[in-house]
Amino acid sequence: MATLVFLEHHGDELLKTSLAVLSKAATLGDDDLSGVVVGANVRALADGAGKYGAKKVYVADDAQLEAPLPQPRVDVLAQLVRDKGIDTVLFANSVLAADVAAGLAARLDAGLNWDLVDLTQENGKLVGKRPALQDSVYADVGWTSEPRLALFRSGSFDPSESGGSAEVEELQVSLEDFSTSARMVDQAHEESSGPSIEDADVIVAGGRGLGGPENFTLVEELAKALGGAVAATRAVVDAGWYPYATQVGQTGKTVSPKLYIACGISGAIQHKVGMQASGVIVAINKDANAPIFEFSDLGVVGDVHEIVPKLTELVRARQTS
Ligand SMILES: Cc1cc2nc3c(=O)[nH]c(=O)nc-3n(C[C@H](O)[C@H](O)[C@H](O)COP(=O)(O)OP(=O)(O)OC[C@H]3O[C@@H](n4cnc5c(N)ncnc54)[C@H](O)[C@@H]3O)c2cc1C
Repeated sequence: MATLVFLEHHGDELLKTSLAVLSKAATLGDDDLSGVVVGANVRALADGAGKYGAKKVYVADDAQLEAPLPQPRVDVLAQLVRDKGIDTVLFANSVLAADVAAGLAARLDAGLNWDLVDLTQENGKLVGKRPALQDSVYADVGWTSEPRLALFRSGSFDPSESGGSAEVEELQVSLEDFSTSARMVDQAHEESSGPSIEDADVIVAGGRGLGGPENFTLVEELAKALGGAVAATRAVVDAGWYPYATQVGQTGKTVSPKLYIACGISGAIQHKVGMQASGVIVAINKDANAPIFEFSDLGVVGDVHEIVPKLTELVRARQTS
């Protein structure tokens, strides 16, 4: 087996989700496990990947690769697959990675399994696990040809530092004419403070039970006191109360913080699948029969407008004492 993991970066850091997929690949016992970093001025990022299990890291470092556009990355990966005999390419889901994976599948006429949450070796064959029927069942999926491509749902694995150092090989970048015809005109960053929901150890999530967008200050204050991030349900995102980037669940993000506090959230299956891997789940809901209590470690039956400010006060008091 010769596995390659697409190591995406933002700024001068490799994404935790990519390192998590690399860590997972390292558990499958591939002696030929490699990663690839693509961008401009990214050589220094390659050294960090060895710790997560890569034996080799390929670096495509070129000014033409600075903008996060998919087709130039497809060129780099297609060339690597052909030249180095790569038989498996793994991606952690992101807007860019999904585009690159789809483009690579088209370019190489390869099979891409999408939205996987696990990967195992069974009788010498790779088997992916894919949620289906609104995440109520898992289907085993495979590949009938090589190279095998797989895109993993974010939050499916944790990065783990099990390896040593990786050999770094710089690649000669040669791009197709059609790959350079798209140009990035502008790139804007959403203003935010505190950790992102993918990285946060603590998440305070708000649902329709908050009663209105103005009451999100309650969860924001609690999240701030705990040094955590704010998340939301689809119901409140659809209502325009909070941004989609914070949506947890089947059609949002999958998160696994140490602590997840659900405020005024019913606990629908589509929300549950995005947060059930959290370490400790605390639910505050005025309805004692709300489904969320069935999978919470700690439940508070009460009004979020009373409980949440008191909890914030207590956390702050504990911190100053
Ligand atoms: C295909 C599909 C994909 C979906 N994807 C997602 C997804 O990614 N993420 C997601 O979250 N949902 C998703 N949904 C929607 C999901 O089914 C639920 O509708 C949604 O999660 C409900 O959000 P909620 O808990 O905020 O609202 P509600 O279900 O309306 O629950 C509000 C809760 O607040 C409680 N409450 C009310 N007032 C108070 C108060 N004052 N104090 C305390 N508690 C109070 C109520 O008892 C209730 O339990 C999806 C649905 C479909 C069909």
